[in-house]
Amino acid sequence: MRIVSGIQPTGNLHLGNYLGAIRNWVAMQDEWTAKGGECFYFLADLHAISMPHDPKALGENTREMTAALVACGVDPDRSTLFNQTQVPAHAELQWLLNGTARVGWLNRMTQWKDKAGKNRDGQSVALFTYPVLQAADVLIYQATHVPVGEDQKQHLELARDIAQKFNNDFCAEDAPLFVLPEPIIPPAAARIMSLRDGSAKMSKSDPSDMSRINLTDDADAIMSKIKKAKSDADALPSEAEGLEGRPEARNLVGIYSAMSGQSVAQILGDFGGKGFGAFKPALGELLVEKLSPINERFNTLRQDREALNAILRKGAEKARAASAPTLAATYDALGLVR
Ligand code: ATP
Ligand code: MG
Repeated sequence: MRIVSGIQPTGNLHLGNYLGAIRNWVAMQDEWTAKGGECFYFLADLHAISMPHDPKALGENTREMTAALVACGVDPDRSTLFNQTQVPAHAELQWLLNGTARVGWLNRMTQWKDKAGKNRDGQSVALFTYPVLQAADVLIYQATHVPVGEDQKQHLELARDIAQKFNNDFCAEDAPLFVLPEPIIPPAAARIMSLRDGSAKMSKSDPSDMSRINLTDDADAIMSKIKKAKSDADALPSEAEGLEGRPEARNLVGIYSAMSGQSVAQILGDFGGKGFGAFKPALGELLVEKLSPINERFNTLRQDREALNAILRKGAEKARAASAPTLAATYDALGLVR
């Protein structure tokens, strides 16, 4: 059993990234390695060049994201953590699979249609073909399971179609080369909203730093951002229905729930009838308690370029070894002399 999952490297990581994405990786790692499975986690830096990007920022973001993942609990000894670029088999297998993938299949991808809009001719070829790279990302490791959100389901279907067609076209019936990976739907992740506007997503691109809790924020910054977070004048309701039409209140209670593991009902049982003057300090303290150890590790590690390079180097070595047999078998199946 092997999980493969990738994440785009970004900087300015915040509480939304932690609760919506990074924390799931840590939970999957703990769950899967406990039952003898393996997790391959990669920073999708090759995917980043499918859109306009700043080369200087890409390198920094790759290390920054690595630091955040490790600080949050991804363990490079238990999981294989690396960036795609250092494992050339991803790009090689993509080329080999380009012979199997059909233009019509890619034309049907809704992500392509959404991202390209009306200006298809102006897009990079990479934006069109990156679902084939995603197929290579998982097939190269013979992944049995791939966590997919709603927006990625279609791409995993494509990976299965490519694997199946390749197996049919180039392998003996009783000796298929590629495992068809199964989707796993991660537990519904919390969607964290801006601290300044309960209807906007917390995001790194929000110009106001007060709108988000950064993973680099210290205890003072966290307490003051929560204290100044937009709320309303009413007391908290004693039941969840009472949060309707109160997006800021709902978001703050949602954050408390995601960080504490308590249900919204439990939290309102404790805080119903109390105002934000009582709730905000409790939320701030909870965040400080849970985020301080992460924050400390993150701030140390993100400054240690050598340590981060070493983590990625070591992960890439493991990934290269794991990918080599499948890559060799693919070249052989296609009749390519090496
Ligand atoms: P941008 O504003 O550039 O889109 P972002 O802050 O939304 O940046 P992304 O890099 O787009 O962050 O997202 C990285 C990961 O974090 C994705 O898996 C995304 O779903 C998750 N994520 C981002 N923001 C939130 C949020 N507010 N709540 C929950 N998950 C989030
Ligand atoms: Mg985003």
